Amino acid sequence: MGDTWVFPDCFLKMDSKFCHVFFTLSALTISVTFSYHQEEQKVLLVSFDGFRWDYIYRVPTPNFDYIKEHGVYVKQVTNVFVTTTYPNHYTLVTGLYPESHGIIANDMYDSVRNKTFSLEHLEIYDSEFWEDATPIWITNQKAGHETGAAMWPGTDVKIHGEFPTYYMPYNQSVSFEDRVTKIIEWFKLEKSINFALLYWEDPDEMGHNLGPDNPLMDSVISDIDSKIGYLIKELMKEKLWNTVNLIITSDHGMTQCSGERIIELDHYINPNDYFLIDNSPVRGILPKKGKLDKIYAALTNAHPNLTVYKKEDIPERFHYKHHHRIQPILIMADEGWTIIQNRSNTFMLGNHGYDNEFSDMHPLFLAHGPTFKKNISKNSMNSTDLYPLLCHILNIPPMPHNGSLANVKELLSETVPTVVPHSMMTPQSNVNLRIYKLQSYAYFMGVFLGSMIVIVFLIVFIKHLTHSQMPTIQERNVEIAQPLLWS
Ligand SMILES: [Zn+2]
Repeated sequence: MGDTWVFPDCFLKMDSKFCHVFFTLSALTISVTFSYHQEEQKVLLVSFDGFRWDYIYRVPTPNFDYIKEHGVYVKQVTNVFVTTTYPNHYTLVTGLYPESHGIIANDMYDSVRNKTFSLEHLEIYDSEFWEDATPIWITNQKAGHETGAAMWPGTDVKIHGEFPTYYMPYNQSVSFEDRVTKIIEWFKLEKSINFALLYWEDPDEMGHNLGPDNPLMDSVISDIDSKIGYLIKELMKEKLWNTVNLIITSDHGMTQCSGERIIELDHYINPNDYFLIDNSPVRGILPKKGKLDKIYAALTNAHPNLTVYKKEDIPERFHYKHHHRIQPILIMADEGWTIIQNRSNTFMLGNHGYDNEFSDMHPLFLAHGPTFKKNISKNSMNSTDLYPLLCHILNIPPMPHNGSLANVKELLSETVPTVVPHSMMTPQSNVNLRIYKLQSYAYFMGVFLGSMIVIVFLIVFIKHLTHSQMPTIQERNVEIAQPLLWS
């Protein structure tokens, strides 16, 4: 057998031109096969706090329209309960429901650690509150990339021992333009970031003060549209517009409230019997020792626009039960109603935090860039779906999450990879968590085409070889007549 294995010898005998072509095409094959993964995508994720999904329909918004026409648009994004800033922003970057990522409210009390977390007093820098989850910037950095963050909630907190590669410590007085300048600077570095997060406080603040129905909100929305225009212009100027995938979204919407729709807790329960956690319209009640049943009984049926749940009875659809920071009693106002302890509390004309099924609570979602289709709209998605989408575009392995890449695949210009869900039950959340295999259709096409090229060249090579070893018809006939000589 050893004598008949002549491939290396014959290969050396082949004419050098043929070898050259063979090697060139093999190298090309390998490069075609792996080119999809070598091309690094960049993403800029922008959130305008409290930008309700339908704000773009009430005034002319030419810059939002420009993105819609040249990119993708999702009409209804179901965000997570409670529909407030910190829980939703952390969901966008983890793909987890608040009961799993642990940022269950803007103001929290952790009874296990006896610690408080307050957005109102900017007491948010205690890492422990954030470490039930791993935000995407950490995963991105662990995969060897760099991240830049301009004021996105949580990006100036040390989480699992890490900050984003570049970040701006939170300072509300830094202008939108300055935040954009920083982001562009990071994208232009020699070792560029591949992922940036940008946060802007409005229109939330004005929505609270004026109420969303106030005609004065029109100019606030126009101002946000101008900010989008500025961002587009700067990205174009820096030649980033066609290379960076821009995603514009929000954490929640806003609904109109009224001084006529107030629920005063002092009318029903004794303020000395409990601690009130978080702000209207969904509030946690921590009863003092032995007072739970008394408070629950007093609040049940107390007011037609107030719903009261014991923690264990909170409906599953809220995914808001399995965390120790959720208090023993949860009270919830109907849309547009405000819960206060008494008239000494402040009241806002616009608010959010309500049931995430209400469309007024829904944020907007638009995207533009090389991985997105052009001029496509989609009716719905969940805000938890953004995380697997981001991981897919950035080509980084997602952590377990509650989203679905399959649910948003139609937004992508390329065909999305086969989804391989791994069902994992966590004792805490009891929810299905999925991991997706990040191998795309393009990748498989590359492998297929590459293999075909190699096969074709092997056939040509063998023919070439056979031909060079066939001096006469006579000898060929001898070989055919004596096939056993080969074995
Ligand atoms: Zn707000």
